[in-house]
Amino acid sequence: MSFVLVSGASGYIAQHTIRILLEKGYKVIGTVRTQEKADSVAQLFNSDNLVLELVPELAKIDAFDHVFEKYNTQIKHVIHTASPVRYNMTDFENEMLLPAINGTRSVLESIKKFSADSVETVVYTSSISALANPAGIFKPETTLTEETWNPDTWNDAIKDVHSAYYGSKTFAERSTWEFIKENRDQLKFQLTTICPGYVLGPQAFDENAKGALCYSGELVNGILNSKPGDVIDQHLAGSFIDVRDVAKAHVLPLEDPKFAGQRLVLMNERFALQDVADFINENYPELKGKISVGNPGAGKDIVATTSKYDNSKTRKLLGFEFVPFEQSVTDSVNQILAANKE
Ligand code: NAP
Repeated sequence: MSFVLVSGASGYIAQHTIRILLEKGYKVIGTVRTQEKADSVAQLFNSDNLVLELVPELAKIDAFDHVFEKYNTQIKHVIHTASPVRYNMTDFENEMLLPAINGTRSVLESIKKFSADSVETVVYTSSISALANPAGIFKPETTLTEETWNPDTWNDAIKDVHSAYYGSKTFAERSTWEFIKENRDQLKFQLTTICPGYVLGPQAFDENAKGALCYSGELVNGILNSKPGDVIDQHLAGSFIDVRDVAKAHVLPLEDPKFAGQRLVLMNERFALQDVADFINENYPELKGKISVGNPGAGKDIVATTSKYDNSKTRKLLGFEFVPFEQSVTDSVNQILAANKE
């Protein structure tokens, strides 16, 4: 029997990815932090092909050892999505940087220790944040590509929470490529990293669309929960990609060697949070007067202040069309409204 190990199985992107894997007949080991999460994820998927294991804290340098020791040569592919994605913290090193970096290093060290002969593919979920620092997202004269890197140092990354998230993704992704270089002769696996922009689109399960959502789910949910007159962040802008496209991109490298050694940049269109507000206000008349309108029409000017991107190499490799912004927002809004009506 062989397995795909997916870390962070309680997460937004991981659950869409696990869904595709199970539909394709893969057997999956998902890791979660607590037994309570294991029970709830097991209930959602209700599949004999999914087993859940506990990895309580990514920051521990041997966090994944017990899982790899248990399944060792049965693990054929690894998809590492788990990482802190939140901005409500003050200890940037211990709550953001170290979990991201140690968690990634731990997965790779465990593979080397227990599953070096069986693991063929590692897919690491990186981010647009590994392409540019927070200011670098707002440089319309620059173009982000598969070759671009966030230049920040550790000292830059501990300045504020945004820099810390951007740094966490950059240092963790860099360490995956370095690990491969340092250990090439002892490892069989090929690495693919996935760098998505802001990920929008529905939760994998309608049950998960109630209450507070993950960071990027809150972009749409926050507008639905806003009150008339609330401020809509006029500085939140960048590139968007639908979560279902991100999930597909995590699975393809398991099946096609052309993804080996590639860094995939998952961005579809540039957008501003104001565009999400405008779209909802224009297309959901039943919400008229109940939610904030922000600064209608300002999105175009905000987007013009963001960096351009060119991910034609990634698009060519993936070979499928990305879900458009309107579809992605519509599917999220419909899911959230339905879930909160019940
Ligand atoms: P998410 O729903 O918050 O998932 C994050 C996962 O990581 C959860 O399973 C979470 O467990 C786990 N995790 C976080 N901190 C941990 C820790 N210290 N120890 C153990 N587990 C921990 O977010 P997501 O959007 O799916 O993000 C998945 C990946 O995509 C991340 O690597 C993120 O950086 C990357 N990404 C996301 C976006 C986006 O817009 N969403 C964009 C680019 C890249 P709990 O459920 O227990 O908290």
